[in-house]
Amino acid sequence: MVFIVRMDTMPLQGFAQVRDPSKLDALGGPRIGAFCGFSTPENVLQRSTWHMKSFIYTAQASRVIFGLNALENIEHEVVQVGAERALVLSTPEQRPEAEKVASRLGKRAAGIFAEAVMHVPIESARAARDLATQLGADCAVAIGGGSTTGLAKAIALESTLPIIAIPTTYAGSEMTTIYGLTEHGIKRTGRDPRVLPRTVIYDPALTTSLPAGLSAASGMNAIAHAVEGLYAQDSNPVISLLAEEGIRAMALGLRRVISAPNDLEVRSDCLYGAWLCGIVLGSVGIALHHKLCHTLGGSFNLPHAETHAVVLPHAVAFNAPAAPEEMQRIGRALGAESAAAGIFDLAKALGLPQSLRDLGLEARDLDRASDLAMLSPYWNPRPYSRMEIRELLQHAYEGDRPS
Ligand code: NAD
Repeated sequence: MVFIVRMDTMPLQGFAQVRDPSKLDALGGPRIGAFCGFSTPENVLQRSTWHMKSFIYTAQASRVIFGLNALENIEHEVVQVGAERALVLSTPEQRPEAEKVASRLGKRAAGIFAEAVMHVPIESARAARDLATQLGADCAVAIGGGSTTGLAKAIALESTLPIIAIPTTYAGSEMTTIYGLTEHGIKRTGRDPRVLPRTVIYDPALTTSLPAGLSAASGMNAIAHAVEGLYAQDSNPVISLLAEEGIRAMALGLRRVISAPNDLEVRSDCLYGAWLCGIVLGSVGIALHHKLCHTLGGSFNLPHAETHAVVLPHAVAFNAPAAPEEMQRIGRALGAESAAAGIFDLAKALGLPQSLRDLGLEARDLDRASDLAMLSPYWNPRPYSRMEIRELLQHAYEGDRPS
């Protein structure tokens, strides 16, 4: 699979989609069919659902080069963004990859900063910004996962340097305007269009070195973005198409990546899925599942991607009655009758941890986690009470298979 994509920013508005007719009264519309016309952002965002659609769609502008050996285009892409001196970023472990990029760039490489770390500590962001200024860099090239892309975003936030991202995991950060910075142990996140990479180079050959366990966890994390994008408050038909296809491609690739980590076709499926799931994360909101994962990760220090894999089937089982069409799409993408059980079975087949207990959470933490999850709750298609969250977390703790 090889392609280049260019999408320009283009807000669209359409018609209302109201699945539950009882919601029409609340929206002030007639009971049958005639609820139509362009909606205001406010009532679109109530995510009313029928058969006539109403949505806002804003495409993010980025250029995507996808394919085997796509990295060979790096110098051309630096020229395309109008840059002459690129600062190449990576983690310490991926310095050899950063060096290869710098050597391809030749005189267009200003230097290498191989000190990206998880959660973008402000100190490393400042050091990278200072080096970029000192070297007169006019572009940042980030080769690596979400941590390295995150460092490039931290530079772009203050310097407006364009970013060329070369993702080597399935996290999807390269497709979003979301940034995170950690100062005094507290991670601050936000959205800013300046941090969206201008160009993204997806090369499956760069991902064969991603260990099987990391690939599986990272892929399930990507699937979680697409699943919640399907039933997000601001979901729209374009993003739903991408989400379903993203889940399908990622699940297809992940099922084979454990036994064939060096198979480039398999890696291409995963990376293609990662791209689509990343677009979903960058385009629409998130819901209960992400709230629970942020709570468990932030307050109990559970590992980011594995926590997604454990919690997702239970969040989906909880939301299933409120989003039946979306559940059908997830089930279809996974080739499973039940969305929640399909996700659970996929994670199990990949050898991922199945329970919060496996991840090191203590039974006594469940009450506190439920309390914390109720603070500043996220929008969710199905409203939730503390008792329901406690029950959901108990299932996730035990590693029960949802029906
Ligand atoms: P990561 O970037 O932290 O990488 C994990 C480790 O894997 C690192 O040591 C890295 O060097 C190594 N690695 C990466 N690719 C490799 C490869 N192909 N072969 C061998 N080793 C490789 O992991 P991640 O899961 O991609 O990113 C996680 C971070 O990204 C978190 O901080 C998360 O919050 C953030 N994130 C941000 C967004 C966003 O939109 N801003 C989206 C998703 C994730």
